[in-house]
Amino acid sequence: MTELLLISHPDCALHNPVPGHPEQPRRLQAVLDGLNQLDRFEAVTAMAATREQLLRVHQPAYVDQLDRIDRQVRDRRETISLDADTHAAVGSVQAARLAAGAACQAVEGCIERPEHPAFAVVRPPGHHAESGRAMGFCLFNSIAAAAEQALANPAIRKVAICDFDVHHGNGTEAIFAGRRDVLFASSHQLPLYPGTGDPAQKVASNIFNAGLPPGSGSDEFRTAWQARLFDPIDRFAPDLILVSAGFDAHWRDPLAQLNLKDEDFFWIGHQLKVLADTHAGGRIAASLEGGYDLHALTESALAFAEGLTLAH
Ligand SMILES: [Zn+2]
Repeated sequence: MTELLLISHPDCALHNPVPGHPEQPRRLQAVLDGLNQLDRFEAVTAMAATREQLLRVHQPAYVDQLDRIDRQVRDRRETISLDADTHAAVGSVQAARLAAGAACQAVEGCIERPEHPAFAVVRPPGHHAESGRAMGFCLFNSIAAAAEQALANPAIRKVAICDFDVHHGNGTEAIFAGRRDVLFASSHQLPLYPGTGDPAQKVASNIFNAGLPPGSGSDEFRTAWQARLFDPIDRFAPDLILVSAGFDAHWRDPLAQLNLKDEDFFWIGHQLKVLADTHAGGRIAASLEGGYDLHALTESALAFAEGLTLAH
């Protein structure tokens, strides 16, 4: 087992605009409870993303808008809705900044020490956020910021983003569609929120989507990656692999209808680590996306991290 670099911040639990929301503060500790069972990890405190890091993927007017909302919710102690299920209250924007910052630190960590996979354990998630719009529980697109952080380093010319959250990462896809230096590969339930990600709709040659019908389980998930997603990543030969790690394809999850088990998250973690070892000198960094059953989060995040750190 190699050591995992774990980046997190307790203030990611302060984002709690609507009590009872499935994207709840206890998700953070649920994942940490799992990772604490690893034999070896190094825990690092996250730093908030800088404005410069956010502007690599978000429009200036959008970053300004969230700054304004942050001041407003602090002054008036109120909750502001950004879309039907995405809200901000005191601590929300800071949590999102920490989430994006942690993902960037994960990238820096795995560039400095490629032998150690990195995992940003943060919330809110990010992969639905578009360059100018909050969406689906997501304020800033952390994995997109991480990709640009990597590409700002001259040693990294190509980044593959692998997204196994049960929802399609529409924001990440929109930000990078058509780019030659970023590949986006995603498995997700179809149909399901946000409605994008149908492989029949050709978006751009760097976008690879595999939709899974409701009720799909381990076999369909593994076949999708083996038959449709690993080959393009192999051909792309990335210098660094990023992972949008959502655990809501787990059979216990309340927001979707896939039937993955803990060992499927071990499997995907290990497969992606092997790809990183083959092409990217081992460089692999993950960031937490969804997963809304607390017990499943603990077990599947641990399984994923074990796969990520398994020597082979
Ligand atoms: Zn999700």
